[in-house]
Amino acid sequence: MQQKDQSMADDPQTTAFYAAEAARYAARGTPPNMRHIERFSSLLAPNAAVLELGCGSGRDSAALLAKGLDLTPSDGSPELAAEAQKRLGRSVQVLRFADLAAKNAYDGVYANACLLHVPRAELPGILRAIHRALRADGVFYSSFKEGTQEGRDRFGRLYNYPSPDWLAATFADVGFPSPQIEQVMGTGYDAEPTPWLHVYARKDAAGPMPA
Ligand code: SAM
Repeated sequence: MQQKDQSMADDPQTTAFYAAEAARYAARGTPPNMRHIERFSSLLAPNAAVLELGCGSGRDSAALLAKGLDLTPSDGSPELAAEAQKRLGRSVQVLRFADLAAKNAYDGVYANACLLHVPRAELPGILRAIHRALRADGVFYSSFKEGTQEGRDRFGRLYNYPSPDWLAATFADVGFPSPQIEQVMGTGYDAEPTPWLHVYARKDAAGPMPA
């Protein structure tokens, strides 16, 4: 049973994994994916206000800060937020996706490899909260492990494993009408070959975005 104060968007096994693995996860030393850091920042004005969800160890946060963005890094795991805080030397919010209440506050939301843990039934609600948090024309980057149905990896973490079509329809329903979805092979903490979906979207804007 869910604890009373825990949202359905918070999977207990996934939460327990990140609490237990925080130090090891942060010590991995994998480099940021600079292609997406570059592309995301090129779509925004210098010094734009950006919320980063699920920042983990703060690896991408450091690269986004180096681009001059006015970044608010956050993570739902207090243990990983503490690791990110150590790395960045600045405060990192403990923020569960389900608690995102900001309105019209950010020019961009950056969510690398984190919304992939939201159960499918909860994803539209979380995407709506991100839509509300963005200003007009706001830019939203996120990435997911591709698949056909919800499931768990060998560590017990829950994944929504969307197909590109399912993801495009889900984004469009909540006010991101033209998400651009790129399919790329990569890997993850489990070191398995993994098909990834990288998604760029603009609030309420139809049509292509610059590559
Ligand atoms: N974005 C980082 C990166 O690319 O290295 C971390 C990715 S890690 C695979 C997933 C992150 O999502 C973890 O830091 C975890 O704590 C966070 N997370 C998982 N469920 C969450 C939730 N419900 N609310 C907020 N953060 C969550």
